Amino acid sequence: MTLILEHVRAAALWQLVAWSLALNVVLFVASVALGELAVRLLARRRCCQPAAAVTGKEMALSATCVVLNAGVTVVGALLYQRGWIVVLTEFPLWRAVLDFVVLFFVMDLAMYLLHRVAHHRSIYPWVHRTHHDYENPRPLTLFVLNPFEVLGFGGLWLIVLLAYPVTWLGMTAYLALNLAFGTIGHLGVEPFPRDWASGPLGWIATSSFHAGHHGDRDHNYGFYTLLWDRLFGTAAALESACRAELSKPD
Ligand SMILES: [Zn+2]
Ligand SMILES: [Zn+2]
Repeated sequence: MTLILEHVRAAALWQLVAWSLALNVVLFVASVALGELAVRLLARRRCCQPAAAVTGKEMALSATCVVLNAGVTVVGALLYQRGWIVVLTEFPLWRAVLDFVVLFFVMDLAMYLLHRVAHHRSIYPWVHRTHHDYENPRPLTLFVLNPFEVLGFGGLWLIVLLAYPVTWLGMTAYLALNLAFGTIGHLGVEPFPRDWASGPLGWIATSSFHAGHHGDRDHNYGFYTLLWDRLFGTAAALESACRAELSKPD
């Protein structure tokens, strides 16, 4: 990783653009391909109705999302080149674990709050309605976002990196988990045990949890945990259709 960071530090702008685009295309393909595989393997554990056929609009929005995510990656790399974003390459393991925990909870709270703001009636039609046009999520839906929303989340991530010098290991582990949760949230099938999805102690934002938000815009704003929804009183019980589907024997 030290070698990769040295290359990034010395790279020309066109190289940063090419690498960022390639990286984000690979992450997009991995997310959608693994997501579709999970949908097929877990077909008996549906937590919402199957989505309709993919439209040209969804493909155009997801392609735009990948390009904008690459743009955010380029801006991050430029800030790193100038020393505004600090990525540590030598560190004890505890520091990487600490970074992971800090990024996990800080981003979980910040994205919860941003999501609540995105649902404000004066902002919702301009920024977030596009994503909610799709009531029954599928793996591609993670990337079907209004461009303003993509830039909002990307900007939030860059602000956190500007404020917090991070180890490459903690950052990479967090980013992998972020993509995994985003993918799982839009599967439309539930990979987690039933208790995690519906039990009183369940606090992980499961697939059912985010499918519940697509069906009911007033609840379930969290991304990784139910912590903030429970704290601010916005956690919903699983919608009944969801519960009925999941209570079927395997
Ligand atoms: Zn969603
Ligand atoms: Zn929403």
